[in-house]
This record gives sequence, C-alpha cells and structure tokens, in this order.
Amino acid sequence: MTNHEHERAIDLIALRGLEDISAADEAWLESHLSQCGGCTEYASLFQSTGQLLRSTAITASPALVATTQARVRARAEHLREHRARMVLIAVSFCIGVLSSTLSAWLWWKFGGWVADRIGLPASYIAPGIVLFWLLPAIVIAVLMLAFPQPLFERSLMLSLAREREGENR
Ligand SMILES: [Zn+2]
Repeated sequence: MTNHEHERAIDLIALRGLEDISAADEAWLESHLSQCGGCTEYASLFQSTGQLLRSTAITASPALVATTQARVRARAEHLREHRARMVLIAVSFCIGVLSSTLSAWLWWKFGGWVADRIGLPASYIAPGIVLFWLLPAIVIAVLMLAFPQPLFERSLMLSLAREREGENR
C-alpha cells in the first residue's frame, strides 16, 4: 500500500463524518480499512472523538453556560456591593467629620455664653469642646446600635447599587 492510499483513506474518513461520499469511495474505503490496521484505528478514533464532542456539546453546554453566567453575575454583584459599601463608609466618615467640626465649632463659639447662662464654671468650656467634638460620633454610634444595622445598610446599599446601575446604563 502506498502513502497516497492511506492519505486518501484518512481524507475519506474525515469526509464521511461531514457529508455523503460516493458509493465508489465508500467501497474503496471499506476495502482499504479491511486490509489496513492503522487506518482502521484512525477511523474508530475519529468516530469516537466525534461522538464525544457531540454528546459533550449537547449535555454540558446549557449547564456550563448557566454556571458561568451565575458565576459572572455573582462576581458583578459582589463588586457592586463592595463599591456601595466603600461609598457608605466614605459618606459616614464625611458626615462624622463635618458634624464633629460643626458641633465643636458651635461649642467653641457659644459654649462660653451657654456656660455663663446656666452657671457653669469657665473651666468646663475646654473639655466641652472635646465632648462636643465627640458627641456626633457617639450619636451616630448609638443610632447604628439602636436601629437594625443590616436592614439600614442593606436598604442603603440597594439604593446605592440601583443608582450605580442607572449610571452605567
Ligand atoms: Zn491505510
């Protein structure tokens, strides 16, 4: 047998899976395969590979697609939540700094007058600034403890996430 015959047999094996080959080619291939172990092995390998690919494509594809989609969605959700959380922390921090500065400034400006009105000694004014500087943080902490934090955080997070979704659209 010549190399050319094996090549022809291999071409016909590949073609047989894709389109109809002529009866003469089919007959020639069958007779070649009956005499040639190498090409017979190739033919059975080719056929089982094709079957494997076809069955894998049919059974695994929808599940694989669903899993991949779920994973991508979970990742996006996680990133979005993380970003919303960072925004929440930044906003809380800004509110805390602003309110602390404002209340300390108010006490610094009017503390002397208030102390004078309610009869507190002047030595209370300086510690009072510290107290008023800390007061907003204490109030925020108490509020966060008093209200169910997950609920508060979750609703805020959801609205933030929704806003961001709107931005991205
Ligand atoms: Zn052969």
